[in-house]
Amino acid sequence: MTLTALGWDERRQFEFEPYAVRGCLPGRVVGEHRTHYRVATERSELTAMITGRLRNAAEQRSDLAGVGDFVALRMPQDGGIASVETVLPRSSALIRKAAGERRPQLLAANVDVVMIVMALDGDFNMPRLERYLALVEASGAAAVVVANKADLSDDLESKSRQIRATAPGVPVHAISARASDAVCQLEPYFEDNRTIALIGSSGVGKSTLTNLLLGEALQATQEVRAHDNRGRHTTTHRQLFVRPRGGSIMDTPGMRGLELWDRAASTPPDFGDIEELSRQCRFRNCQHGSEPSCAVRAAVEAGDLTAERLARYAAAARKSLGRR
Ligand code: GDP
Ligand code: ZN
Repeated sequence: MTLTALGWDERRQFEFEPYAVRGCLPGRVVGEHRTHYRVATERSELTAMITGRLRNAAEQRSDLAGVGDFVALRMPQDGGIASVETVLPRSSALIRKAAGERRPQLLAANVDVVMIVMALDGDFNMPRLERYLALVEASGAAAVVVANKADLSDDLESKSRQIRATAPGVPVHAISARASDAVCQLEPYFEDNRTIALIGSSGVGKSTLTNLLLGEALQATQEVRAHDNRGRHTTTHRQLFVRPRGGSIMDTPGMRGLELWDRAASTPPDFGDIEELSRQCRFRNCQHGSEPSCAVRAAVEAGDLTAERLARYAAAARKSLGRR
């Protein structure tokens, strides 16, 4: 496999140069296990450990290597186990900020596009979509909404409209993972060997879609998992699949939905953008109602912020005032 197929590019080559001089080998983390990593290199896929020095430096942060990371490997002279010498700078990082966690946890690195999967039949929740969008935006990856199970929906139009209003400017694809043309719409996202991750609640069709996009039945779908609890556990480590027809798919059980978002739901959604705007309001205690020179209302008028989102922000602010 070539480095290019793994998503390596000129910038990475530049950043790797100092390690190349020291005899390191470039690679990408494709599997994360409790005690080791699986790293794909140009030559082969191999097991690598993280060095004590790097671990100590990274312990309190989220920059311990994770799936998707491009790394410099130190190869042992005597045929022993390789070690991760350094993690190259990330173009994006999906980080879990679950309540009660001692440190932020890296779910996936260097993801180019995150497909937020929703199901058009049951799981249709705009506040949740908003939280996913905030997570993706914070990561540095681009967001795409995949509205799945179109075959089960009788009001495709109005639901698509709702999604567009909540996620202005974000591409929306209404598809059915059970129809073979589903892949065609999504295939262009893999161009230039880009890395895609799928997030969304359990049952929306992520595994079905992943299998379609991979072209192989690598991920067990829910039907299988429901009858085989052990199967569930064997697939809980994070993985990156490099596709034979180009690009990669990230499978990150930690952000499959419930595990991440039920906990996140108890923390207020992130309205950092509106809080940022509030600082530009004329009055420090502006309620964004009829006050003059309100930057938040100006953003709504300019179409940079939806009235719905502002209303949700106001509701969340009222609720948090009520709790005090
Ligand atoms: P995951 O938990 O998000 O990975 O969801 P799965 O891929 O396991 O899918 C959950 C269930 O929904 C399975 O029974 C799938 O066969 C089914 N499913 C997935 N996509 C579609 C679709 O587009 N239409 C219909 N009717 N069922 C689907
Ligand atoms: Zn204001």
